[in-house]
Amino acid sequence: MTETKYIFVTGGVVSSLGKGIISSSIGKLLQARGYNITIQKFDPYINIDPGTLNPYEHGECYVTVDGMETDLDLGHYERFTGIQTTKANSLTTGRIYKSVIDKERRGDYLGKTIQVIPHITDEIKRNVKLLGKKYHYDFVITEIGGTVGDIESTPFLEAIRQLKWELGKNALCVHLTYVPYLKAAQELKTKPTQHSVKELQSIGIQPDVLVLRTEKHLNEAILKKVAGFCNVDFDCVIQSEDLPSIYEVPVSMQAQGLDTAILKKMGMEIGEKPSLGPWRKFLERRNKATEEVSIGLVGKYDLQDAYKSIRESLSQAGTYNDRKTKLVFINSEKLTEENVAEQLTGLNGIVICPGFGQRGIEGKIVAAHYTRTHDIPTFGICLGMQMMVIEFARNVLGYADANSREMDEKTEHNVIDIMEEQKNITNMGGTMRLGAYECVLKQGSRVFDIYKQEHIQERHRHRYEFNNSYQKEFEKEGMMCVGRNPESDLVEIVEIPSLKWYIGTQFHPEYQSTVLKPHPLFVDFIKTAIENKKVTHG
Ligand code: GLN
Repeated sequence: MTETKYIFVTGGVVSSLGKGIISSSIGKLLQARGYNITIQKFDPYINIDPGTLNPYEHGECYVTVDGMETDLDLGHYERFTGIQTTKANSLTTGRIYKSVIDKERRGDYLGKTIQVIPHITDEIKRNVKLLGKKYHYDFVITEIGGTVGDIESTPFLEAIRQLKWELGKNALCVHLTYVPYLKAAQELKTKPTQHSVKELQSIGIQPDVLVLRTEKHLNEAILKKVAGFCNVDFDCVIQSEDLPSIYEVPVSMQAQGLDTAILKKMGMEIGEKPSLGPWRKFLERRNKATEEVSIGLVGKYDLQDAYKSIRESLSQAGTYNDRKTKLVFINSEKLTEENVAEQLTGLNGIVICPGFGQRGIEGKIVAAHYTRTHDIPTFGICLGMQMMVIEFARNVLGYADANSREMDEKTEHNVIDIMEEQKNITNMGGTMRLGAYECVLKQGSRVFDIYKQEHIQERHRHRYEFNNSYQKEFEKEGMMCVGRNPESDLVEIVEIPSLKWYIGTQFHPEYQSTVLKPHPLFVDFIKTAIENKKVTHG
C-alpha cells in the first residue's frame, strides 16, 4: 500500500461516549489485518497540553515516551494496539494557534492577514498528515475531542471537510452518536442521532460510518431508519452496546463488520477476517476469572478517570493472575491513624497513588505506615513512592519533620528534594522531568527478579526526587535504593526486601502496561496480593 489513508472519528449528541475506545478498536482491527496504523487525538481546548489541568477537569494526564503530557485517550490507544504514541499524536487548539502565531512572528506568512481559515485550518491539516508523511503509516486515525456543534471544534471540522474533499476515497469519517432509551415511553430514540448528523452535514461533512452507542440492543428496523435518515449505507451503521468490559469492544465491532465497512468505503480489498487470537484468549481468561483480589487505591481524586492507567494496569494484571481485580478507592484526605485499620480491612494490596501538592499526603503517609508495619503488599507510584520514603524517615530513621521540599520548603530533613535542573524553572507547563528514562536495576533485588533484566526504560512526570544524601541511612535500616538512572544517578525505585511486597517507583509503570503485554510490576504485585489473601484468610 502506498498512500496513507485517513480516518476521522467525531462525536455527537453528548460527550463521554467512548470515542477513544472506538478509535482504539478501529486501530486494533486494522492492525490485525496487517496494516501499520497510528492514532492521534485533537482536543479543541486552548491549553497547550492537559499537563496543567486538574484531574477533576480532564481525568488522568497520560505521558508518552518522548515526554508529551497528553489526554488519557492516548493511554487507550497504546493499551489496545501496543503502539507507542509521541508528541505528534496529541494536539490542542492551543498548540495549533501557538504554532501559527510563532510563524507569524517569524514573518513566515509574508505580510498576509492571519485568519482561522485558511491559516488555522491549514495548520490542522498539516498536523493530520504529518504522521502519515513522516512514518508512512497505512492508516492515520484522528479522533476529534468534544462534540459536533461545539464552537471550538468548528475549525477542526472544517479541516476534515477540506481533507475529505482533497483526499477522496483516502479519507473517511466515522461519527459516534448516542441512541437514548426513554424508560417512560419504553422507546429508543434516534432523533438526537439524526440531528447530530444534520449538524455535520451542515458543515459539509457526510459521515461514512455511524457508530451508535446504546444501553439497549438496537433492532434492524432502527438501524435501517438511521441509515435512511442519515444517508449512510445500512452496513455502515454499527451499534456499540454497553459491554462488561471495554476490551470486548473490538470483538463486537469486528462481529458487526466495522473494519470491513471502512475498507469497503475506502475502496480497499477486504481479505480474510483476522482471528484476533491473543486478544480473544485474554478475554476468555478475563471472563473465566470470577474470584476477586481486592486492591485499595489511596489517593485524593474520587473520580474513575483520575487514575485511569493505574486502574487498567491492575485490572489487566488481575486477568493474567486469573482473578477479577476489585478496586476500592480510599480517600487519603480522610485517612487517619484512627481509621486506617478499618479502612484497609479486607484489602489484599494497596496502591499509593501519584499526585501533587499538600492535600491528602498525610493520609498517604498513614497508609504507608500501616501497610509497612502490617506487611500488606504496597505499591507506591511517584508521589506514592515519595510518601513511602517520608514515612520511613519519620518512623524508622526518627526524623519527625521529614518531608518533601514540595510540601515543606524549610524542613531540615528533606528526604525528597527538588531536582537540580528544576530549581530555576518558573513556567509550570511541560517543564517537569517527563518521558522515558533509562533505569539500571540492582542485581539480586526484588525488582530485578520481577523484570528479569538489568536495564529498563520507564516514563516519568515529576519535579522532586529521593535525596541521595540519605541513601546510606535508609539502606542501613532496610529500605533499599534498587533502581537508578545511570546518567543522573537519581533513585528511581526503593524497596524493603524483608516485606512481602513493598516497592515504590519514582516513574509511572502504568503508562506502559498493555492488554497483550501487561506490566511485570503490576502482575507480580497482584500475584503477591493474592498470596497475601490466602495467608490472611488461612
Ligand atoms: N509531586 C511529585 C513530584 O513532582 C510527584 C508527582 C507525581 O506523582 N506524578 O515530584
